Amino acid sequence: MAKKKVLITGAAGFLGSHLCDRFIKEGYNVIAMDNLITGDLRNIEHLQNNPDFEFINHDISEYIDFEGALDYILHFASPASPIDYLKIPIQTLKVGSLGTHNLLGLAKDKKARLLIASTSEVYGDPNVHPQPEEYYGNVNPVGPRGVYDEAKRFQEAITMAYHTYHGLETRIVRIFNTYGPRMRLNDGRVLPAFIGQALRGEDLTVFGDGSQTRSFCYVDDLIEGIYRLLLSDYVHPVNIGNPHEITIAEFAEEIIKLTGTDQKVIYKPLPKDDPLQRQPKIDRAKEILDWEPKVNREEGLEITYEYFKSLSEEDLYKKEHNTFEGYIKK
Ligand code: UDP
Repeated sequence: MAKKKVLITGAAGFLGSHLCDRFIKEGYNVIAMDNLITGDLRNIEHLQNNPDFEFINHDISEYIDFEGALDYILHFASPASPIDYLKIPIQTLKVGSLGTHNLLGLAKDKKARLLIASTSEVYGDPNVHPQPEEYYGNVNPVGPRGVYDEAKRFQEAITMAYHTYHGLETRIVRIFNTYGPRMRLNDGRVLPAFIGQALRGEDLTVFGDGSQTRSFCYVDDLIEGIYRLLLSDYVHPVNIGNPHEITIAEFAEEIIKLTGTDQKVIYKPLPKDDPLQRQPKIDRAKEILDWEPKVNREEGLEITYEYFKSLSEEDLYKKEHNTFEGYIKK
């Protein structure tokens, strides 16, 4: 029997590349698509000679011309760190809106099931805590995060509309802070920022007074949740994340302990609209997918630290992601 075929967008990114690995392992034929704005081919180079794997360099905000059958589409293309979407706000808006629209059209044409990566950012700076899927959020549409948050909210809306109007099979995962190997060292997110600083012998920069909270999920747990959601028959949004919440100040202390650095914490201003608290309510995932995270932070951080240590000096000191510079000059 022919293998099932899955298209993964954002395949050279952190989550996309882990999805490629998972679907190859499960015996699928994987079409990996990315325009490499924030992705890195090194994340998938170990798959390049696999006969069940193919890479296509394409910006999905442009029409997607794909021949042949598709069973599943997983939409993971988007800048996803605050630094990234501040630098490329229009592309962020386009990939969440036009890119999603193109994929919906493709899914409809191929009669494929589409799973879209949404985010805890749809809840904005939440005034309900922890965040259940029923919470509608508190988002500033014209703030610095608006380009990402509103693109993702639109993405959910248009995906639901294709489901109700066209009967398309759709799935929506709301992803909370996730970490693990293949995060970009210099993407500005807190975990690579702290570990990078520790490795370079710099002080750790905590924004604000460090009392804001996040809840970090190890990547393998997240991928498992996404895999289960795709194969389920549930069309409403599902939070996938680890409910174990800590303050950013505590997190900095954990990284200091993990890396054994003798650097200290320094405080910088809190970025505008930085959510003060974030913790997923995961009852829905537990009930519908029989899923909950298995990897505790100590274990996950150890594996992630080993990954960052294995990177080159060049990576460690690179201020900007290389494909970025090329893009901005254009
Ligand atoms: N943060 C920090 N120092 C850094 C980078 C980030 O204190 O060098 C804080 C940031 O202000 C936020 C939290 O860490 O409160 C998580 O930020 P991240 O960019 O990882 O993702 P977010 O959850 O805000 O989208």
